[in-house]
Amino acid sequence: MAHCFLQVALDTPLNSCFDYRWEYEAGAEPVVGQLVLVPFARREVVGLIVAIKENSEVPVDKLKDAIAVRSQLSPLPERWLALARFAADYYQRPLGEVALPGLPKNLRVPKTVALDRALKKLAKDAHPHDPAPSNMPALNPAQQEAADAIGGALGFAPMLLYGVTGSGKTEVYLQACAQVLARDPDAQILILVPEINLTPQLEGNIRARFPGLMLATLHSSLSEGERMLHWLAAHQGRARIVLGTRLAILSSLPHLRLIVIDEEHDPSYKQQEGLRYSARDLAVWRAHQLAIPIVLGSATPSLESWHHAQSGRYRKLELRERAVRDAVLPAVKLVDLERDRPKDGLSSALVAALRQRLDRGEQSLLFLNRRGYAPVICCDACGWISNCTRCTAFMVLHRPEHRLRCHHCSLELRIPRHCPTCGNVDLQPLGRGTQRVEEGLQAMFPEARILRIDADSTRLKGSAQAAFDSVHRGEVDILVGTQMVAKGHDFKKLTLVGILNPDTALFSQDYRASERLFAQLMQVAGRAGRAGAASEVLVQTRYASHPLYGAVMRHDYDRFAGSLLAERRQAGLPPYMYQALLRAEAPALADAIAFLEAARDSLVFEAVTVNDPIPMTMTRVHNVDRAQLLVESGSRPALQAFLREWVELLRAMKSRVRWSLEVDPLDI
Ligand code: ADP
Ligand code: ZN
Ligand code: ZN
Repeated sequence: MAHCFLQVALDTPLNSCFDYRWEYEAGAEPVVGQLVLVPFARREVVGLIVAIKENSEVPVDKLKDAIAVRSQLSPLPERWLALARFAADYYQRPLGEVALPGLPKNLRVPKTVALDRALKKLAKDAHPHDPAPSNMPALNPAQQEAADAIGGALGFAPMLLYGVTGSGKTEVYLQACAQVLARDPDAQILILVPEINLTPQLEGNIRARFPGLMLATLHSSLSEGERMLHWLAAHQGRARIVLGTRLAILSSLPHLRLIVIDEEHDPSYKQQEGLRYSARDLAVWRAHQLAIPIVLGSATPSLESWHHAQSGRYRKLELRERAVRDAVLPAVKLVDLERDRPKDGLSSALVAALRQRLDRGEQSLLFLNRRGYAPVICCDACGWISNCTRCTAFMVLHRPEHRLRCHHCSLELRIPRHCPTCGNVDLQPLGRGTQRVEEGLQAMFPEARILRIDADSTRLKGSAQAAFDSVHRGEVDILVGTQMVAKGHDFKKLTLVGILNPDTALFSQDYRASERLFAQLMQVAGRAGRAGAASEVLVQTRYASHPLYGAVMRHDYDRFAGSLLAERRQAGLPPYMYQALLRAEAPALADAIAFLEAARDSLVFEAVTVNDPIPMTMTRVHNVDRAQLLVESGSRPALQAFLREWVELLRAMKSRVRWSLEVDPLDI
């Protein structure tokens, strides 16, 4: 018997690496990257071996023995561990919190029965390894050039595939994949999409194109069993294409040769809790680490990526036209609501356009980024409004469900029969959400088949897919939806898009609001006319002369992005400045602010600005007050160095205030 010390990362806050003693027989040496069962705080937990040492600084009487090394599972590769280490360092989180939660649950439970049985099942699995693609359509010259550039790239090659909506970016990815798979019999490709709802469409395309190829999907709606099988298929190199949402960026892919990030501008690539990482940024790091190509695709790239493309750091590949013959971008028209007063939220111009589509048997989409019936109800007699008692927010009226709901703390109440303060029985809904629009449409077009798609209508597993399928089958005349329907979908019979109430975002305090609104409008407009028929987009607005709408009408991303970048440079904002945000929450705002003030005063650093704390715009959520403090620097290394020291100081403050740090925040 020989012995050694295992340094093990555990999924715990604070310092997450612990030493354990391990005795083993010759020939059974433990390896970095293996999972190991260890005692921890009177429980048994699974951790990851991150180092093997001959000595430990921990006093002998404090050291415990590891229980079992999981040698059935091949070790996680060094490079995967390096990715986890990078993410942990960069986002200032303990390694265990980064490395372990991404592994399938069944690998992290103390019992090994499940693991053995899974692994046995896999051994029997066939190894379909035939990457021969079928029915490849002829690419147009711009697509061909892009596909060849991606498929033929060697070494670290970051590329921005800037292609208008409907320009056939998917086909470019697929044919680039075909080139990579044909060249290298082991090659694995990772494809990320921003939303789970977009996986079935792309999965269908990939399966149709590569019938014999093993494809694994990784997203949050898989069952634990499925997740385990798919994760292992990726880890063992058997899955040649892995398609997933942001969490898939942390999967183990020993033969990764190409990364594709579709709709790279999408904010969903940013995780907003726990490890607040950007899957897109990690993907670029991973491609660099592995010296492989990565393609970021979008019709409206993030300003970060656009900036890199302009400066030449990313190679820009352009698709300026729609791929389907005769398909052109939709004509975008503004409907001035000051002149065309809306009824039930719909201007007469939009109603006429809807009527025309119904007569012709074509589909329409109405986009409104607000679910529920009305964002608030109020009493005309005394001025009462439906505030949430726990948040700085309104309770939203959900009429079909007979409920008032807070979208921030999920508080639910029955709709009051009368005003809680004065007893008035005539409470009025104010403003409108998707449910109310649906109701108005139904009254206006009783013969039309109307379908609403939002988070409420698609709560049940599989219901979103069923809804999208019925749109594709042509069983829907008018689709009403939130941003869920705005992205990525290739609806072939849709020729009209109505955008109901985009103005609110024009006056947001968030400096990213116009970038986002522009992207959102271009994306949703891009759902129209994809199969060739002439199409139009009507934008209802009270600010018809706003330059953002002008840019949308001209489909002019280039110039608009240029002007936003100029503003950002002048104002000292990303991508010209690097930021981190410290958030604090406490039952009383004063405590959160006091903590942030102490944090602000705890460290002074050259080239790093620590701003004063301010309450968050939505200050109170679920009876907790929230405040934040912005840290900025023109130098990423300086900011990183500051954060490393700062986090230690913050931990040492042992405050009862809950805090979190976010690097490269999207919402500030
Ligand atoms: P994007 O992702 O750029 O918005 P898609 O990849 O969804 O666009 O393609 C839009 C439509 O164009 C799809 O229906 C697709 O089948 C079609 N398409 C793509 N490439 C070609 C091509 N070379 N010839 C004909 N149709 C194409
Ligand atoms: Zn009242
Ligand atoms: Zn609430």
